[in-house]
Amino acid sequence: MSIDKAMAILRKYPLCDHCLGRLFARLGFGLSNYERGRAIKDYLLMRIHERIINEGLSDELLNDLKALAISGHEPSISLLKSMGMDVSPVPCYVCGNAIFNRLDEWANKIINAMASLRAEFRTFKLGTRVPSDVLRKELEITTEFGITSAESIKRELNRELGKRVSSTLGIPFSREEPDIEVVLDVSTGAVTIQIMPLYILTRYRRERRLTGKVKWPIDDVLKIYDARGAILHSGGGEASDVRVLGNGRPMVIQVIEPGKRPLINELNQPLRDDSYGIALNVLSYVRASTVRKVKAESRNYVITYRVLAVTGGQVTDEALRSLHEYFRNRQVVQRLRVRGRVKKRVSIVYELDGKIISNGLVEFLIRCQGNLNIRGFVHGYFGDVEPSIAGVLAVEVRPVEVDILNISD
Ligand SMILES: [Zn+2]
Repeated sequence: MSIDKAMAILRKYPLCDHCLGRLFARLGFGLSNYERGRAIKDYLLMRIHERIINEGLSDELLNDLKALAISGHEPSISLLKSMGMDVSPVPCYVCGNAIFNRLDEWANKIINAMASLRAEFRTFKLGTRVPSDVLRKELEITTEFGITSAESIKRELNRELGKRVSSTLGIPFSREEPDIEVVLDVSTGAVTIQIMPLYILTRYRRERRLTGKVKWPIDDVLKIYDARGAILHSGGGEASDVRVLGNGRPMVIQVIEPGKRPLINELNQPLRDDSYGIALNVLSYVRASTVRKVKAESRNYVITYRVLAVTGGQVTDEALRSLHEYFRNRQVVQRLRVRGRVKKRVSIVYELDGKIISNGLVEFLIRCQGNLNIRGFVHGYFGDVEPSIAGVLAVEVRPVEVDILNISD
């Protein structure tokens, strides 16, 4: 039985009730480590006492009794005293009895720091920085005695402090994606609080062709959130003179150090300000991992483009019909020059339709993979995009207007 190891451990290392109980944290239900450690010591004492009654006092039993007393077990100290022996406890080998008696003091410190924080929060996560020699000693014992039922001291501290803070402030403790992260440094007692970012999933539409730099409603975001900064993470992108119509392009707005955390439906109106030339449709708050997901998935979006193009030579309806046949689920290879190296990127054009608007002006509807360079695909870029519309039609084709009509993600 693994509790038998408890006596062997105490013979070598004096441990307080917390630190002994923590080694057997997986045993017993509804017990705190303190109660568990105390119960193990009580049980060990009763076993020793029974043997003393039955077998008489031996050196082995006396030494075990002394080991219990040295670890601070009061009933063992009393029993020894009744036998005429005075044994004083020594500080716990792991925590030095300098950690668990300060839980209330530290919890109050954390509560005060949180209460004076000038930022809204609904959930928090609590962590501790524990001196490395404490962690080393704890590991030393579990390794030496092959203990598999132990809980780490950090976990016990986080839980015990979290419980106190949570019940005083009436806010839940959250392991994942909390509003703030509080860290207590056990050796200095210092409390640091990090305000965690918010992530808003949106889709943006650009209804007008813009020239130059696009102005995003960052200032509005900063004002609404009373935030230090904001980062836009868009799933792919396009030139500013490309209109983004239909359902718009997915984008996650990361709000840095928000002082306020409004409900998502409070954002829709302020962020739909038309003066930016960008309309944001606010969808929901999301996890941090959505940023990576939105970026990674953008290459596999299915995008429908409308491209108005000027042709350098005669294009017939028949040529457009055969172009339609040719670009049906067709792979297109784009050669990209990145820092002197040539990289190849493969995209798929799913469907393409062309319509003659007037002599020398053709409108194309192109449904393709999100990573296709649309202008390059129309123009051919002198062989860098292969096959291309210009290449297959064997005339010069120059895109003049590009619109995104829909993005399926
Ligand atoms: Zn201890």
